[in-house]
Amino acid sequence: MIEIKNLTKVFGRKHALDDVSFTVEKGEIVGFLGPNGAGKSTAMNIITGYLSSTSGTVKVAGIDVFEDPDEAKKLIGFLPEQPPLYQDMTVSEYLGFVYELKKCKLNRKKHIDEICKVTKIDDVRNRLIKNLSKGYRQRVGIAQALIGNPPVIIFDEPTVGLDPKQIIEIRNLIRNLGKTHTVILSTHILSEVNSVCDRIVIINEGRIVADEKTENIANAVRKGTVYNVKICGPQRDVMNSLREISGVTRVDVTGEREIDSYTYRIESQQGVDIRKPLFYAMSKQGRPIIGLEAAQSSLEDIFVQLTETGERSAK
Ligand code: ADP
Ligand code: MG
Repeated sequence: MIEIKNLTKVFGRKHALDDVSFTVEKGEIVGFLGPNGAGKSTAMNIITGYLSSTSGTVKVAGIDVFEDPDEAKKLIGFLPEQPPLYQDMTVSEYLGFVYELKKCKLNRKKHIDEICKVTKIDDVRNRLIKNLSKGYRQRVGIAQALIGNPPVIIFDEPTVGLDPKQIIEIRNLIRNLGKTHTVILSTHILSEVNSVCDRIVIINEGRIVADEKTENIANAVRKGTVYNVKICGPQRDVMNSLREISGVTRVDVTGEREIDSYTYRIESQQGVDIRKPLFYAMSKQGRPIIGLEAAQSSLEDIFVQLTETGERSAK
């Protein structure tokens, strides 16, 4: 549905995008994940035809975005990083304005009613946009993207600046849209793509460093399994016994302390479950384990691992 080939964008001397290629199949929800400055917004602005590329091509449903921007734009609903909301319009006026701008042919009242229902902005339709909360504004931004019922939806950091309840609502909305649309959403939050997306494309410093199905991404980057374990007893003794457990590859103290216990970060070989041997080793020495949880790979960990792998394979 979306085909991005060898996309490069240079600002002065800075390569904001460097030979970026990926495709998105019809009906997929793809997460475009990367830290601030990675090139996410640049890529999305190019894909949607709002920014030119230095080189490379983008096709949406077979239509070249640079050769035929008007046709391509009809297929895409876009929520930019800063949605172009007119502060002095009411929500209804604004959506009507976007409807005209997009030269939408669908039944006006029915279509706008439907979008307001889906995005849950029915109750603020007569309010001025400048008086809306951030959460409602974001939903109005999503509503304008949906006008014309485009098959492709592109959201640039849709949950930035929202509170946890609003984030959950927007994620649910995106998940629902994903049932009937092809969606790309960008984010710098790993858990966001985990919970919403079928596939994850990771970008770092303008380059794609991973492109995997969501369920594979953790395996692709995780060399072993990491647990955070809270154990009572003197730090040095506990550390030494932990290191003797077969399958343990690394032990660190996290710095978290609670009266007589410390938290240890324990890494183990891939495919080895150290939880039972850990229990037996500690109980033999009378060191109660009072907490155990699998440590989440942070986005930073994943980037470090991915860029390391990249460098190694380049050699
Ligand atoms: P992201 O959305 O992932 O945070 P951006 O696409 O906004 O990243 O930016 C990628 C890089 O390109 C950054 O280093 C940014 O400073 C640079 N950049 C983006 N837009 C411009 C511009 N108009 N002029 C110069 N540099 C830019
Ligand atoms: Mg951005």
